[in-house]
Amino acid sequence: MPGGGFLCCRRFSRTKGTRVSKGTTAVTLIPGDGIGPEVAESARRIVDATGVKIDWEVHEAGAEVFKKGLATGVPQDTIASIERTRCALKGPLETPVGFGEKSANVTLRKLFETYANVRPVRETPGVPTPYSGRGLDLVVVRENVEDLYAGIEHMQTPDVAQTLKLISRKGCEKVIRLAFALAEAEGRTNVACATKANIMKMTEGTMKRTFEEIAPEHPDIDAWHVIVDNCAHQLVKKPEQFEMIVTTNMNGDILSDLTSALVGGLGFAPSANLGTDVAIFEAVHGSAPKYAGKDVINPTAMILSAVLMLRHIGELEAASSVENAVMATLASGVRTRDVIGDDGSVGTTAYTEAVIGNLGKSVPEWTAREVKRLAMPVPREETAFVIPESVELVGVDVFFQTEEPPATVGEAAQRIAEGTALELKMVECRGTQVWPKTSARLDPTDVMRARFITRGSVITSEDILELLGRFGGRFNWVHVEKLRMFDGEPSFSRAQGEI
Ligand code: NAP
Repeated sequence: MPGGGFLCCRRFSRTKGTRVSKGTTAVTLIPGDGIGPEVAESARRIVDATGVKIDWEVHEAGAEVFKKGLATGVPQDTIASIERTRCALKGPLETPVGFGEKSANVTLRKLFETYANVRPVRETPGVPTPYSGRGLDLVVVRENVEDLYAGIEHMQTPDVAQTLKLISRKGCEKVIRLAFALAEAEGRTNVACATKANIMKMTEGTMKRTFEEIAPEHPDIDAWHVIVDNCAHQLVKKPEQFEMIVTTNMNGDILSDLTSALVGGLGFAPSANLGTDVAIFEAVHGSAPKYAGKDVINPTAMILSAVLMLRHIGELEAASSVENAVMATLASGVRTRDVIGDDGSVGTTAYTEAVIGNLGKSVPEWTAREVKRLAMPVPREETAFVIPESVELVGVDVFFQTEEPPATVGEAAQRIAEGTALELKMVECRGTQVWPKTSARLDPTDVMRARFITRGSVITSEDILELLGRFGGRFNWVHVEKLRMFDGEPSFSRAQGEI
């Protein structure tokens, strides 16, 4: 089945609800913030011009909703519409940087468990870049709901901020299985997994280990691991070596902006947020507020996101028609200012009209990739994917606020543990052991962590509570983590300098 090298999912219309009447498909349209309404309108006009019958259910999310006082940024009627249609085309949503409410984008991804974010890029005719002529065609598959985007943050003290990086075996397995299924559907034979498992052996390491366990199920695919910083370097140096990169949420967020720049920038990068039964299509770019309402931005990323959406709902001919029309438009020299600057460029509306005028045309520079329909993998339903045969409680980490010198803290914490089932193993600050003293140069903040471990006997939660009671009488503890062994393996990392 011909396609543009992007994805072609199963038709959710055939599972539940999307078809509103014979030949008409309901799709939720969220125009979004900043340049969102302009790119959404462009995509909608072009899709409508193909003759495909879409019942657009237009709903709000983002900045205007925050202003009305709804902390999630996503109103109930928007949620109800997506629950009904199971398919949305979404403009970018603004998120205040460094303060304010949570991202409405992240809320939508989590609400509908769209666990994979598929971000394809391909060299585009008429868009000159330093890589032109090298035939770049690759996909970043980003885990979409876990990692630092769980957004679980605390100020441990007014000085020290903390965020939780949560990565589950389940989340990794889902996105990795989807990546392999997508690679096979698109005839890609090379899948790289990019992680920072060398430093974060448990979180990023879970992604790497899961990838390495699943890869042998796909013997025709050359599956390999690359450290994410080197991946960024290799992408700039020799991007042709990549066909697909599967990665954790934060890595994927950054790498996919990079890959968009390889083919002309964020104006050319579409994406699909895929869950088991809901899909949300959107440009990779944000709301670019400085360009809002100026009719200058490039709507191609949103138009190509609509192409992914059309394939997803089974409108394959319309999808190819729009994609070919975009390529014909760009190849003919009709381009927005992000591609060629002010001289000779056209605005968003003129570009949209040129694409509509080119529906039905194609250009030799763009050959559709042969793709098979993607059947979404059915994830396992268990809550826990890894069940150890033995679990042993061996200690506790206690994070606490202090401005006392490490030596004083260490001696006091040691005394606190006297007569209990646990003993002080070390005290650290920002991951580096400060007691017992090592050769590391110290520059402590006001949060330290005391690691207490069993003196050899079996310990229980009551032993930990007793220790905490004593500890709280001397220090202001802010949070604790139990230390456990799963099948004899520690479930915790060592501090820098800890033996
Ligand atoms: P951005 O909106 O993507 O804009 C960054 C730059 O990319 C723009 O200044 C512009 O570059 C270029 N650009 C983006 N879209 C373009 C387009 N369609 N045509 C031409 N050039 C385009 O990123 P940001 O400034 O970091 O974020 C702005 C807001 O968007 C934030 O509130 C952020 O949270 C939000 N955001 C939302 C999403 C989403 O909804 N999925 C994604 C990312 C960011 P030049 O300045 O070089 O012209």
